[in-house]
Amino acid sequence: MTELYRKVALIGMGLIGSSLARGIRERALAHSIHGVARSRQTIEVARELGLVDRMGASLEEAVEGADLVMLCTPVRTFGKIARSIAPHLASGATLTDVGSVKRYVIGAVSPHVPEHVQFVPAHPLAGTERSGPRAGFADLFVNRWCLITPLEDADSAAVDKLAEFWRRLGSQVDFMDAGHHDVVLAVTSHVPHLIAYSMVGTADHLHRVSNSEVIQYSAAGFRDFTRIAASDPTMWHDVFLSNREATLDILGRFTEELFALQRAIRIGEGDTLLEYFQRTRAIRRGIVEAGQDTDRPDFGRAVRR
Ligand code: NAP
Repeated sequence: MTELYRKVALIGMGLIGSSLARGIRERALAHSIHGVARSRQTIEVARELGLVDRMGASLEEAVEGADLVMLCTPVRTFGKIARSIAPHLASGATLTDVGSVKRYVIGAVSPHVPEHVQFVPAHPLAGTERSGPRAGFADLFVNRWCLITPLEDADSAAVDKLAEFWRRLGSQVDFMDAGHHDVVLAVTSHVPHLIAYSMVGTADHLHRVSNSEVIQYSAAGFRDFTRIAASDPTMWHDVFLSNREATLDILGRFTEELFALQRAIRIGEGDTLLEYFQRTRAIRRGIVEAGQDTDRPDFGRAVRR
C-alpha cells in the first residue's frame, strides 16, 4: 500500500498520539513521523520505544515540512499550540486534531490557521482509561468510529484524504456538524464519565461502608465505574469545561430521569421500573449487535482458580 502522507507531525505522545504513531508505522501510512511531547520523561520513553523517527520538544521542527499535523494534547492546549505552529506550517498542509470536543476546538484553533493550510477537525471514538506513551497500541482505532467535523469552506480533497487515513487505521468514518457532535458525545461519553466520577466519589464519602469493603466487594456496576473514573484528570477537566453547554443540558435531563426513578422506587411503582429497565436492556443489545462492545460477562476481572 502507498504512503498517504510524506511527513506526519504528532503533537502530544500520550495514549492517542502514541497509538497513532504505532498505527501509522504498522500500516506504512507515512514516510516519516515526528513526535513532540512536553516532558523530558515522555520524550525519553517515546525514543526508547522507537515510536517515531524523530522525537523532541520543538513544535517548530516537528511541523516544518509536515503535510499532516495532528494535535493530540488536551483540548484546552490546542489554541496556544496552533498559534505557535501557525507561522511554520507548510503550504498545502492539513492540520487536524483528535480532541473529544469539537465546537470549542474550532473556535480556539481556526483563527490561527493560515490560508495555505487546511484545518480538518476530527475525533476518534477510541480510548482507554490509561494514558501516556506506553499505553498506546496500533489497533486502538480498529472497528471504532472516527467523526470528522469539516468546516463549511473545507477543501474536499483534504477531508477525503484524512478520512482515508482513518479508514486505513481501521476506523469507520462519519461526518458530522461540530455542534451536533458535542451533543452526541455529551450523551454517549461526557455525562457517563461525570456520573462515574460522582458515583466513585459518593462511595468514597460514604463512611458507613469502609473503603476496603468497597474495594473487596466491588460488584460489576461499581467496578466498571471505577475503571471509567480512573481516566486522565486533565483530559476530562478540559472536556467538561470545553463542552459546558451540551454537558449541562444532558446532565439536567439525566437528573430528571433519576428523580423519576427515585419516585417510582419510593412509591413502589414496579411496572415503571420493569418497563424502564427493559428499554435500557434493548439499548445495550443494540450496542453489542453494532460491534461496539462484546457481551463477554465480567470483563476486566482476573479469573480466580
Ligand atoms: P494523554 O495520554 O494524557 O497524553 C497527553 C499528551 O499531551 C502527552 O504527551 C502530554 O505530554 C501532552 N501535553 C499535555 N499537556 C500539554 C501542554 N500543555 N502542552 C504540550 N503538551 C501537552 O492523553 P490522551 O488520552 O492521549 O488524549 C489526548 C487527546 O485525545 C485529548 O485531546 C483527548 O480529548 C483526545 N481523546 C482522548 C481519548 C481517550 O479516551 N483518552 C479518546 C479520544 C480522543 P507529557 O506526557 O510530556 O506531559
